[in-house]
Amino acid sequence: MLEVRDLTVRYGGTLAVDRVSLTLPDGPAGLGLIGESGSGKSTVGRAVLRLVRAQSGTVRYNGADVLGMRRLGAYRKAVQVVFQDTEGALSPRMRVGSALTEVLRVHRLVPRGAEAARVVELLADVGLDAEHARRFPHELSGGQRQRVGIARALAVQPRVLVLDEPTSALDVTVQARVLELFERLRERHALSYLLISHDLAVVERLCERTAVLHRGRVVEEGPTRQVLHAP
Ligand code: ADP
Ligand code: ADP
Repeated sequence: MLEVRDLTVRYGGTLAVDRVSLTLPDGPAGLGLIGESGSGKSTVGRAVLRLVRAQSGTVRYNGADVLGMRRLGAYRKAVQVVFQDTEGALSPRMRVGSALTEVLRVHRLVPRGAEAARVVELLADVGLDAEHARRFPHELSGGQRQRVGIARALAVQPRVLVLDEPTSALDVTVQARVLELFERLRERHALSYLLISHDLAVVERLCERTAVLHRGRVVEEGPTRQVLHAP
């Protein structure tokens, strides 16, 4: 369980996140974060991932104090991120198979001889066949690149995925298929999603609960149906 309490983040003089509290239960589960552009959604995600520093408040993961952690190794495995634009996150000169193998090595996830088989398994998990391991990122479609980004996140067997506009950069038809993939993976791996999205249909499919941010504050939180279809 991931618990955010009274989280406050400033960028210089800008109060980006103002005393935000959220609870993300163990998976399969989803919490949607919606709100206009600039309302602080990405900053909440980045603070949870410890990519930006919070001024105050707490983040607890299974009870452990995330913002005070000195060694982030285990947390960084448990909580992974998938961004909108995987292109920037994949090295252009590295084949898909090497990129995935690198993750397996850095975290010593499988014995040396078993890496290639695990890469094929990871690709299959996201609906890509084995020959994609030999491709470079620019030889993939946008949808395929996003699938590789998801495979890389899954390589460390995370419990939580922070999804920051994970389908927004994709064509509409591709969006639908990636959305289906997220749905299946959520159940298959009992994942918890913290989903940042302006696409309410995506939030409705992947999240039981939704929080609405406005100027850095949570102004509404509840069952997704209720929040999205409030009179
Ligand atoms: P959202 O994801 O809802 O669009 P953000 O979290 O990106 O909102 O931004 C929240 C506020 O923080 C906005 O006012 C934005 O301009 C500001 N902000 C975001 N990132 C930075 C940054 N790196 N430096 C300064 N201000 C930032
Ligand atoms: P998706 O629906 O998965 O996004 P696209 O419709 O964009 O796929 O691409 C169709 C097919 O063309 C894919 O199977 C992909 O392998 C191939 N393809 C797309 N871009 C390239 C490229 N730059 N080089 C080689 N093959 C490509």
